[in-house]
Order: sequence, then C-alpha cells, then structure tokens
Amino acid sequence: MVKELTIGVLGIQGAVSEHINLMEKTLHSTKTSGKVIPIKNKEQLDEIDALIIPGGESTTITKILNSTLMHYKLINKIKKDNLPVMGTCAGCVVLASEIVNNNNLNILSVMNIKVKRNAFGRQKESFEKQIDIKGFSKPFNAVFIRAPIIERVWDDCRILSKIDKKIVMAKQDNLLALSFHPELTDDIRIHKFFLNMI
Ligand code: GLN
Repeated sequence: MVKELTIGVLGIQGAVSEHINLMEKTLHSTKTSGKVIPIKNKEQLDEIDALIIPGGESTTITKILNSTLMHYKLINKIKKDNLPVMGTCAGCVVLASEIVNNNNLNILSVMNIKVKRNAFGRQKESFEKQIDIKGFSKPFNAVFIRAPIIERVWDDCRILSKIDKKIVMAKQDNLLALSFHPELTDDIRIHKFFLNMI
C-alpha cells in the first residue's frame, strides 16, 4: 500500500492557510495520497514527512520556534532525518546560516545561504514579477512582499532563480528557499517541485 504523506505547514504566523490550500490542490492534481496540517508544537514534528515555513515575520517565527522548543528539534529533523523543508520569504530567512545585520535573530542556520532581510524595500515596494526558474518551461509569477534576497550561496547549495544579480530561489539537498510567495498564486509548480523532493 502506498504510504499517505503528511505535510506540515508551520502554523505559528503568516501565510499558513494559503500554503495549506495550495499544497492540498497540488496533492489532488498529482493524485498523491496525503494531507496537509498546521504545525503548532514540537510533538507534531514527529508526524510529518515534510514541512513548509511560510512567509510572515521572521522575528516572530524565530521567537515562537524557541519558546515552543521546536527550534532544536527541527534542526535535528533537518540534519539527521533529512526532513524536506521549504521556506518562503520569512521562511527563507529562518533557514539561513547567515543574515546581513542580524539583530540577534535566532535562525535555524541549516542552509548555506546568506540572506538580507527587506532587501527590496518596505511594504509599498512590494511587487510581482515573471521570473525564470531552472527546470521550469515557463516563467513563474512571483509575488515579493518585503522580500529578502539571498546574497550568496556556497558549497552544495544551488541557485534556481535570480532577478538581475539577486538570488531569489535556491536548493540544497532537502532544503528549498524562496524569497517570494508562491502560495499567493494558483500556480502549483513550486509546490509540485517540493513534493518531488519528499
Ligand atoms: N520582511 C519579513 C522578515 O524579514 C519577511 C516578509 C514576508 O515574509 N513577506 O521576516
């Protein structure tokens, strides 16, 4: 019998229901048996086959990861059990090893990326752009909201998309980081790409 997948969306803050909806749509359209659940405590981390860390506010997300004791457990799951994780926008910041001007943000430090927060400006400088992604046959309409950029990647981390010289998507083994919000579109291709990493 094919195992049913359980995909978690870190349910602390941010675009949680949007990710749940788009991942449910992705499971349905790829005929994958599975469910998508919000994750609010560290015990639930044992139930999942993959995790999405949504956009929102990385300061809030990291604080709550610490206060719920999810922080170290999640690092262990990523490093020892190779838990696939996709971080979008604030989620990308949370996965990083390095942040420009880090004001004591206790990030997970699991991915070989250096991130600059709010690098495209403030809320009113939010924008949408058709971007090319490695392996995708058509551009993706990416939504950037107070988005970070990935300034550099190293070792086994690979760049999947750039706007001019700014890196906006990268992959390293079981980790996928995006500086934009794929869950704010109907396009399932990035969620499908992540599903294939599980
Ligand atoms: N600027 C936010 C941060 O650094 C991210 C914004 C977002 O997720 N839309 O946490």
